Amino acid sequence: MRKDVRILLVGEPKVGKTSLIMSLVSEEFPAVVPYRVEEITIPADVTPERVPTHIVDYSEAEQTDEQLFQEISKANVICIVYAVNNKTSIEKVTNHWIPLITENTDKDSRVPLILVGNKSDLVEHSSMETILPIMNQYSEIETCVECSAKNLKNISELFYYAQKAVLHPTGPLYCPEKKDMKPLCVKALTRIFKVSDLDNDGILNDNELNFFQRACFNSPLEPQALEDVKNVVRKNLIDGVHYNGLTLKGFLFLHTLFIQRGRHETTWTVLRRFGYDDDLELNQDYLFPPLKITPDCTTELNHNAYLFLQSIFDKHDKDRDCALSPDELRDLFDVFPYMPWGPDVNNTVCTNDQGWITYQGYLSQWTLTTYLDVQRCLEYLGYLGYSIIAEQESQAAGITVTRAKKIDLQKKQTQRNVFRCNVFGDMASGKSGFLQAFLGKNLERQKIIKEEHRSYYAISTTYVYGQEKYLLLHEVFPDFDYLTDADMACDIVCLVYDVSNPYSFEYCAKVFKQYFTDSKTPCMMIAAKSDLPEVKQMYGCSPLEFCRRHKMPPPQSFTCNSAAEPNREIYTKLTTMAMYPHARLRCMCTCNRCTFCLCQNLLNSELLQTVRTKLYAVVLRRHIIQEDLTSSSFWLRASVGATVFAVLGFVVYRVLLKIR
Ligand code: GDP
Ligand code: MG
Repeated sequence: MRKDVRILLVGEPKVGKTSLIMSLVSEEFPAVVPYRVEEITIPADVTPERVPTHIVDYSEAEQTDEQLFQEISKANVICIVYAVNNKTSIEKVTNHWIPLITENTDKDSRVPLILVGNKSDLVEHSSMETILPIMNQYSEIETCVECSAKNLKNISELFYYAQKAVLHPTGPLYCPEKKDMKPLCVKALTRIFKVSDLDNDGILNDNELNFFQRACFNSPLEPQALEDVKNVVRKNLIDGVHYNGLTLKGFLFLHTLFIQRGRHETTWTVLRRFGYDDDLELNQDYLFPPLKITPDCTTELNHNAYLFLQSIFDKHDKDRDCALSPDELRDLFDVFPYMPWGPDVNNTVCTNDQGWITYQGYLSQWTLTTYLDVQRCLEYLGYLGYSIIAEQESQAAGITVTRAKKIDLQKKQTQRNVFRCNVFGDMASGKSGFLQAFLGKNLERQKIIKEEHRSYYAISTTYVYGQEKYLLLHEVFPDFDYLTDADMACDIVCLVYDVSNPYSFEYCAKVFKQYFTDSKTPCMMIAAKSDLPEVKQMYGCSPLEFCRRHKMPPPQSFTCNSAAEPNREIYTKLTTMAMYPHARLRCMCTCNRCTFCLCQNLLNSELLQTVRTKLYAVVLRRHIIQEDLTSSSFWLRASVGATVFAVLGFVVYRVLLKIR
């Protein structure tokens, strides 16, 4: 919202400019007036629109042309004053003042004008007949008003109109010649209608109208007022009301009516609430609310944002097949100024048999955007009206900034839900196949992907010990000279080689040695195309030996050349390693059946956690009584650990026995 309003009064000498200002301030007609009064400022709380207002007088006798031009360029609104009993002063409006103002203002910044006919106390007739043609000729004239400084008629109205012309200009909204709203205004109101149409049936029903009313004006409509509004539309438009709700046509008609009746501040309130500025563009402040992100942190959507996105999906999945057809997707993004998702998205997230983005894929893509480019995510949520519909301060309320990874590593646990895996490998080693297989596509289905629709990202969910986590795979372009820090920053590294190509392992070894030997990021070797006959790799040692030497898990055989969907186990392993980078996982599976998995589940089980805390507490208490806590704290911890493990070992053994 604007900080203040500057009103300038111009016109021929003696038309009553100074008197008008003095009448407003003192509420009585001054007997004697100076040529010019000093600029006055009306404090915000006594003006109707609650903004500080400066009123500036002009006098030809006291000011130079230069000073006048300066004042014109500073003004937010200019009142051209004439005296209704003085024909020359009216003629001067068009042949002197309007051209002078046009010359001295920016072409782009339109200054609204108000025609003021003063001294209405001196004549019986109105000057409107002469004034209306002028108004029709110049679109910058916002309104006209007849008043009298002498009997204080329309004085406060005059200054109210001037304020309103600045704060709620009709110019961007309405075209007086066509007697209709301007295209940009229609576009903005159409978006607002679509965002507010929560069930997407093309009608604002009573619930939606009330929600809208509360969002914009902080109060619901009385049931009678709601009926009155609909009746007005019904009377004037055949298809404005449908099934007792307002159609888009009806909604637009209603706003045209507001504007035509001089109530355009209503329309402006709605537009501003939905993020529009004076040019009917979405405000940068609205689209990009401040969000503090510290380095080493990642960005995720929180529960609230997922719920909102879920409701947006439901609203557009009209045939309820849990996927968005091209039409449904287009409809979903209709409230955007451009289509944000290109065809590559269909190869970044899970799709159904028709290649349409599924519900899960849709949420994955949002997760990806939030992770890779949170500003873009804020912008997109802004287009969808997140803050309004989810009743949040701003889109930033939907984002979780995770704690620094450094702290996660220190504490050996993480609250994060999204993990990034960078995939390295030589040309044609099978990286893309590895990414696409994560989306459930076997080699057969991958073959139909067009080159220009390829994606270097793939994101989907996996389950790690019962918790759903996102794994984001990123294929790194295999050009050694172009590897950046960003290519290295991830939670787990995949090194892919082609078992059928003797020269492909060397690249993996090279990347590993150059970048990851001393890195804390866990690495995993993928032996891709395992359906093909394996050949000996032309390298100093075998891949298995290489992994052993560098304390990596053995190479994981992988193929996407399967009849059905490729095996997903490897992705769960990767996510697990990304989540627990320090855990020396001897067995890399998460089958939930083998001994390792059973132990792991047990370790995480609540029962055991309580046993462990209780044990700690008991031992601690004993030590505190003995008062040698400080000196022996290290040994204390060591011994508690040992005790837990002794107990644990026993419990695990018993569980295993039972299963057998
Ligand atoms: P300015 O030169 O435009 O600032 O005009 P002034 O405010 O100095 O007014 C010029 C003369 O017109 C003064 O004698 C005022 O008293 C008189 N005047 C101003 N407003 C009115 C009005 O509304 N009615 C009548 N009858 N006289 C007015
Ligand atoms: Mg004067």
